[in-house]
Amino acid sequence: MIEIKNLSKIYKTGNISVTALKNVTLKIEKGEFVGIMGPSGSGKSTFMNIIGCLDRPTSGLYVLDDKTIENMSDNELAEVRNNKIGFVFQSFNLLPRTSALKNVELPMVYAKVSAKERRSRALEALDWVGLGDRTHHNPNELSGGQKQRVAIARSLVNQPAIILADEPTGNLDTKSGEEVMEIFKKLNKDGVTIILVTHERDIAEQSKRIVTFRDGEIISDELNDREAKLKSDPA
Ligand code: ADP
Ligand code: MG
Repeated sequence: MIEIKNLSKIYKTGNISVTALKNVTLKIEKGEFVGIMGPSGSGKSTFMNIIGCLDRPTSGLYVLDDKTIENMSDNELAEVRNNKIGFVFQSFNLLPRTSALKNVELPMVYAKVSAKERRSRALEALDWVGLGDRTHHNPNELSGGQKQRVAIARSLVNQPAIILADEPTGNLDTKSGEEVMEIFKKLNKDGVTIILVTHERDIAEQSKRIVTFRDGEIISDELNDREAKLKSDPA
């Protein structure tokens, strides 16, 4: 589904350039649940932004579902982003003075879904994340965990094949973080590919594969021990 080869990203700010990614090569199959770890500044968010077609690499190859991203126009990229990918961020990125319902409807406005369909899909998504009774609350009337569940509902309404979550539990207490992880696991069981950045080992341990970045490079890529053990010793 995702194939990346020798991907590099250099940011230029004035006369300073920062190499955020160096020759990253990686394949991710449909239905995987990948945890991305690594210290602050190691290139995790840069990697996610490129995978999510929010940004382009400086060099290297990125193929998503047999399409080479480099050859696509900005409009085509936006279309891929809107139709295939759901984003979840550490800081939720909800519109503050707008109801949960309207926040969840927003990606469908961009995808030109009719008002009636938008309403019904948004209600269904909010219900699915357990917020059927919070649809008219604004973000400041919701807890952190509830805000993140609104953001997840929003990420789901265009039925993405891939969910990219950048430190989704970073601002949450342990219990709300667990609830959010349960939602990702359930989505993954339904076949959605999940790529999730975290610095917490406990969170990463819940994915099936853990990829670790350091200084813009992948320093390890392994099946998660616990998952591997379950496979070799199902009892
Ligand atoms: P992480 O998510 O692992 O903390 P990032 O991908 O955000 O790492 O950052 C990797 C490096 O790229 C850092 O050194 C950071 O300062 C730099 N960087 C990230 N985004 C930008 C940007 N938009 N412009 C310039 N430099 C950036
Ligand atoms: Mg980051």
